[in-house]
Amino acid sequence: MLVLDGKIASKAVKETLTEATKELIELGKRPPHLAAVLVGSDGASETYVASKVRTCEEIGFQSTLVRFEDTTTEEELLAKIEDLNNDNNIDGILVQLPLPKQISEQKVISKINPDKDVDGFHPISVGRLVQGMETFIPATPYGIMLMLEHFKLSTKGRHAVVIGRSNIVGRPMSILLSSNLLYGNCTVTICHSHTPNLADITRSADIIVAALGRPGFIKEDMVKEGAIVFDVGITRVDDTTAAKGYRIKGDVEYAGVSKKASAISPVPGGVGLMTIAGLMKNTMDAYNRRQK
Ligand code: NAP
Repeated sequence: MLVLDGKIASKAVKETLTEATKELIELGKRPPHLAAVLVGSDGASETYVASKVRTCEEIGFQSTLVRFEDTTTEEELLAKIEDLNNDNNIDGILVQLPLPKQISEQKVISKINPDKDVDGFHPISVGRLVQGMETFIPATPYGIMLMLEHFKLSTKGRHAVVIGRSNIVGRPMSILLSSNLLYGNCTVTICHSHTPNLADITRSADIIVAALGRPGFIKEDMVKEGAIVFDVGITRVDDTTAAKGYRIKGDVEYAGVSKKASAISPVPGGVGLMTIAGLMKNTMDAYNRRQK
């Protein structure tokens, strides 16, 4: 059984980016620059943004963290995005989701210049993805594609079951795996909370991508012998024995499922690390496209 170790696969991506950034500096150019916008002080969002900023530093990218109170108005946030759109030294803009309820996520996402949309959530980026055009791929599905590539896991002709149909994970994942790509060409089934007999579907899967946010949902008896399993889920579960008072749990019951799977990504240390790697690659791509 192969552990799809996100530390190993993301290190490879980061090393390539670090090298490319060094070359830019040697040529007298500025490094890629990511702007991260954080509204409020949600613990999980703080953690995600901090690790994105830290990874920028590791690679040699510039980063700017823009913070807003959770009482910020939609107009204030949209005005800041306009500034970042017009700032020639910023290559990529990400707005950490979720946003407070007085702000429309769709309006904010649509305000980002598609050329700087490194999260790949803008309707134009999604349209390009669906049509197989060059685009920014949302970071989590991109990270899974990079993992398939890193571990050279063949996907052609296989049955992939994606559980979850969100705009940020499940839906783009299903599009990528069904696309005519080296690590695509799967027959894809996409499942959601109204899917009946889900276990019958997962048992027929060669590849499972679990992205539903229900800790330990995928059990050993739901998985075929030899399946490849990607666990996207990240849920904080209370645990008084843990230093922080909680543990991070994935959507897959690792101990049981790993006995049957041929390859499985752990939580933590799997897809989460690849998500950041995907974001960093998008930031370098945004930089390169803007230099043309
Ligand atoms: P989301 O927007 O809440 O979507 C969850 C999806 O799962 C929905 O489509 C929902 O169906 C489906 N679902 C929920 N319960 C189900 C059930 N019992 N059976 C079948 N389908 C079910 O979540 P998300 O943003 O995609 O995130 C999913 C998980 O991934 C969360 O734990 C999140 O924290 C994690 N995540 C991790 C990363 C990473 O870097 N590793 C990145 C993003 C998200 P309906 O559409 O019918 O409601």
